[in-house]
Amino acid sequence: MIAEKMVSFVKNSSAIRAMFEEGKKMAAQYGAENVYDFSLGNPNVPAPEIYRQTMMRLLEQEDPVYLHGYMNNAGFEEVRAAIAESLNRRFQTAFSMQNIIMTAGAAAGLNIILKTLLNPGDEVITFAPYFGEYRNYVQNYDGILVEVSPDCTSFQPNIKELEEKITAKTKAVIINTPNNPTGVVYSAETLSAMAAVLEAKQRELRTDIYLISDEPYRELVYGGVEVPYVTKFYPNTIVGYSYSKSLSLPGERIGYLVIPDEAADAENIISAAAVAGRILGFVNAPSIQQLAVARCLDASTDIAYYDRNRETIYQALKKLGFSCIKPEGAFYLFIKSPVADETAFCAEAKKQHILIVPGSSFGCPGYVRLAYCVSYETICGSISAFEKLAAIYF
Ligand code: PLP
Repeated sequence: MIAEKMVSFVKNSSAIRAMFEEGKKMAAQYGAENVYDFSLGNPNVPAPEIYRQTMMRLLEQEDPVYLHGYMNNAGFEEVRAAIAESLNRRFQTAFSMQNIIMTAGAAAGLNIILKTLLNPGDEVITFAPYFGEYRNYVQNYDGILVEVSPDCTSFQPNIKELEEKITAKTKAVIINTPNNPTGVVYSAETLSAMAAVLEAKQRELRTDIYLISDEPYRELVYGGVEVPYVTKFYPNTIVGYSYSKSLSLPGERIGYLVIPDEAADAENIISAAAVAGRILGFVNAPSIQQLAVARCLDASTDIAYYDRNRETIYQALKKLGFSCIKPEGAFYLFIKSPVADETAFCAEAKKQHILIVPGSSFGCPGYVRLAYCVSYETICGSISAFEKLAAIYF
């Protein structure tokens, strides 16, 4: 018998993953070119050439004992120092190696920090729509996920409702900017207002409230939009970063946490997070990936590829009568369902071989998410299928 807690995890297991599997089956049945699978945020742009060269060089030239061996649970010192230096250069921060903990992607980083911070019954606030896995990650440590309802006009976080939902049990607030699933980038004004509320609530309740900034899409922005560095707004900020999207390495599992010295109880959090990573079974982030990303810190993905996809699909859907906010970052479009039950809309889309994910997976029913990190051919090919879909509703 599986554990009781797992029963509900399995039951609510990701609709996105299920659809991804369905997409593969449909591609085998109808031919890949006739299926428009927009379900998963799996980058289709290959990792940069410099990453491949770096991996080859590491394998050929690095001491294999060092390359494949255990190291400090927090990661290689040279890697953490290089990342701190890169952040300081790009964002005018003042981090040192101590502030960086290497993780097996953002998923591991979030689990590590939640294990480090949460006592059973502690509350973690997040803003709908949000990455559905947050629910599971918080539940892993017997925390309670508290949702702030969406502002469906701007999809910026609702600060007033945040203020109302903070209690003495609030241990953390998770934000994600650029956002999955909306593509919205939180503005400096939003972050300032959020910081002011959190500071005031900490004073009023005499607690520490940590702001966890989940940032796998930091580098994926269009038209030079700035993504403010969150630690500069609020001292109790912990950043989770990932190379899954920025270098197209989702299967490799590599990222890091930033725990600044300014965060309350930083020293203990830093040492506890290294222990949390170890006892969660990660032990350390993959060694070769740590060394590889540290040597590719100035590399970037082909953002122009995603931008062309974004413009093409956004303009086409608008023209057909669909409504959605134009994303400034990440690679998702959050489309208003033409009918209240967005799962019915997704089912109708599937009849046209279009796979999109219901907004209820993100705590925001009435909308659907389209991941445009697919080939340009898929984008162009899907438009006639969307025309048929639109004809049903408009
Ligand atoms: N957070 C958000 C908002 C995501 O969209 C994802 C992946 O899609 C993750 C975290 C997990 O990313 P990783 O592959 O780095 O674990």
